[in-house]
Amino acid sequence: MGGGVLKPAFANIIGQELAREILLKAVSGGKISQAYMFKGPAGVGKRTMALAFAALINCRDAGPDACGCCPSCKKFASNNHPDFMEIVPEGAAGIKIDQIRDLKRKLSFPAFEAAHRVIMLADIQSTIRRPEVANSLLKTLEEPPADTIFILTVDEAAETLATIVSRCQVVPFYSLPFELICRRLEAEGVEPETAAVLSKISGGSLGRALAPEGRELLELRRQVVELSVYDLSGPLPIPELLHLAETCAELKDKLDYFLELLGLCLRDLMLLSIPGQEHRIVNIDLAHLYQGRRERWQLAELSDRLQALSLARKQLRFNCDRRLVCEVLFLRLL
Ligand SMILES: [Zn+2]
Repeated sequence: MGGGVLKPAFANIIGQELAREILLKAVSGGKISQAYMFKGPAGVGKRTMALAFAALINCRDAGPDACGCCPSCKKFASNNHPDFMEIVPEGAAGIKIDQIRDLKRKLSFPAFEAAHRVIMLADIQSTIRRPEVANSLLKTLEEPPADTIFILTVDEAAETLATIVSRCQVVPFYSLPFELICRRLEAEGVEPETAAVLSKISGGSLGRALAPEGRELLELRRQVVELSVYDLSGPLPIPELLHLAETCAELKDKLDYFLELLGLCLRDLMLLSIPGQEHRIVNIDLAHLYQGRRERWQLAELSDRLQALSLARKQLRFNCDRRLVCEVLFLRLL
């Protein structure tokens, strides 16, 4: 594969057997719903599945999967099909009322070429919290043009409006097993040890494991752990610590995720202090660094450091100065 973009096809989706089965059965039985709600965690393949489904139902030479070669499939492969529309939230408040109005205008015209025009409304969890937008969306779902299929994607934890759910067939998505994520990363050319760590820290989200900043965060995490095993006979590594705090503060909105990663390192150290739990550690590439740490900290001290970490994450949510929070935290991690 070599990191290239995969063609939208069911064959290229990893995991999600239930969602796959629901959709393929609908196609083979000629019972395609006019609206689907793909519900599940971020980064587990909802958008990829929507594209594969749209490609299959519009393929001119479809077998059990989209052919990948016909004019329709080629347009899907180049992310350039005129009848696949993706509406994504603009900002944290979700999809805007103007975006729904614009969609309604477009729906008043026939599809360009597709037998099934597919409209994907992404991450509607914030959108449906605002009544004006939710109602407008509901009206659109209630009066769909005959050739149009809606796919709404929504976070697993979201409270979905019963009125909207009742218009949709719900298709559940789940976190992916880490072995599947690991294999996909290796297929993308990631070296095995890094693939193993990235997949374990991904929380079952391939999107998170594939995110470009992942490796940068792994490297920073290694530096912080390395710093915490400084030579006890020498001076405290304060200049290095301040420099690292500055670098971490520049992660901005990725900082919270980074601190979550540091939490996993502390969890590893706790596991290492319990006999028989070594195999459960996540950051296997840091095992050699952990050895030095093990002798210094007992469970109670590790627990103190975990508390320092959750305090730092809380302070960040209250918009405290990132650099200061990192400096204090790293000092407490020593
Ligand atoms: Zn095709």
